[in-house]
Amino acid sequence: TIYNLGSINLDHVYRVRHFVRPGETLSSSGYRALLGGKGANQSIALARAGAEVRHIGAIGEADAWILQTLIEAGVETSAIARRQEASGHAIIQVTREAENAILLYPGANHSLTRSQIEQALVRGGSGDWLLLQNETNGLSDAMDLATERGVRVAFNPAPMVSRDIAPLLDRVDLLIVNEGEAMDLTGASTVAAAEARLHNDYPRLRILLTLGRDGVVYVTPEGRYRAPAFSVDAVDTTAAGDTFIGFCLADLAAGQAPEMALRRASAAAALCVTRAGAASAIPTLAEVETFLAS
Ligand code: ADP
Repeated sequence: TIYNLGSINLDHVYRVRHFVRPGETLSSSGYRALLGGKGANQSIALARAGAEVRHIGAIGEADAWILQTLIEAGVETSAIARRQEASGHAIIQVTREAENAILLYPGANHSLTRSQIEQALVRGGSGDWLLLQNETNGLSDAMDLATERGVRVAFNPAPMVSRDIAPLLDRVDLLIVNEGEAMDLTGASTVAAAEARLHNDYPRLRILLTLGRDGVVYVTPEGRYRAPAFSVDAVDTTAAGDTFIGFCLADLAAGQAPEMALRRASAAAALCVTRAGAASAIPTLAEVETFLAS
């Protein structure tokens, strides 16, 4: 089982001529409500990649349809709590020039309790992992429980709001960061320097460093692996990182060779960027295999 402690957000996307100005009432010419949040996206990617995934999170009472969407994607939702408060959500204004302005309210994502995590994270087998991002509370408690119970920890510290998450790295087996996060986390001014610093400071840490169109680097105590990105026509890079993480962790947890895990995850992320949207842009394993065979 892969336990994913993560955010669940509602993205309210409004099409506007320009961003709302102070005191102005502006009519929007289009509206869509989408499921998002790095946590939910990564759970969906894990499930589409074929992993058994239990999401640990929280939503507001009024939003039961979110559970249905996750269940349909193959995610186990028994550890998603229902709260008397708003689900995490974002008000997103998008202009014709594709610029956006985002107002985020974390809501129920910040209401996770230690006992909820304790109940959800059962002691399990050798393929068990706990995955976390940085959009909920409870990270330190969850890492402690996982460590006690012999569950390995994968951490994607996104969004990277401050460097005070660095002390958590002692409990992490697999760190997954993009270029900006790697540099923010280490204070290094280049990705190469960030990689060297992380490898030096945490010699046993496995590091997945995603480099956008430049592909990915995977640094482990046993060796360093590299995989190029696939060349595709990018339409929308939203959720590319989440797709990569879900597919890569699904394969690594299942004991696949790193080369295979990186290749499949790169293909999944490439397919994701050819489609608009977040959760809905995440491909299935069958689509990834068809893409790789073509
Ligand atoms: P994030 O979305 O978290 O910033 P990256 O931009 O590093 O993460 O993207 C994650 C992975 O998605 C990359 O390692 C790559 O495999 C794939 N990817 C991202 N952008 C593209 C692109 N334009 N074309 C093909 N693959 C891409």
